[in-house]
Amino acid sequence: MTLPAAIELDRLQQAIIEQGGKWMYGVERFVPNCCPGCERRFERQQNWIIYADDLKPGNRRDYEIIQCADCGNRTMRKVLETYQLSDKEKARALLQKGFCNLQKVPALGTMTKDHRTDEYGQIHWL
Ligand SMILES: [Zn+2]
Repeated sequence: MTLPAAIELDRLQQAIIEQGGKWMYGVERFVPNCCPGCERRFERQQNWIIYADDLKPGNRRDYEIIQCADCGNRTMRKVLETYQLSDKEKARALLQKGFCNLQKVPALGTMTKDHRTDEYGQIHWL
């Protein structure tokens, strides 16, 4: 039996919390910030569908192909910077500084420490 993706993700997130994980808040900054087809702003995960990711050998995600949820146009998305913070208000404040897509995400182990990831995928502990 195949579960809908949203239910699978929900169970996976719950399993992480049950294993001693912690809820954190993530935001990201990326290009393009709007659809090249219809010019809708890409602000929340619901605005696009990941069409293909992990495009480089070694599983290093430099870019991915996304599809606009409105017009279906496909484009390459490059994440420039992300923050994952334990304080929701600090994450929300970054929305005023060019970041978007505030999401509640479960984290385990060292990933429960506040951190920033740069465009090369390097983690910087805060
Ligand atoms: Zn579009």
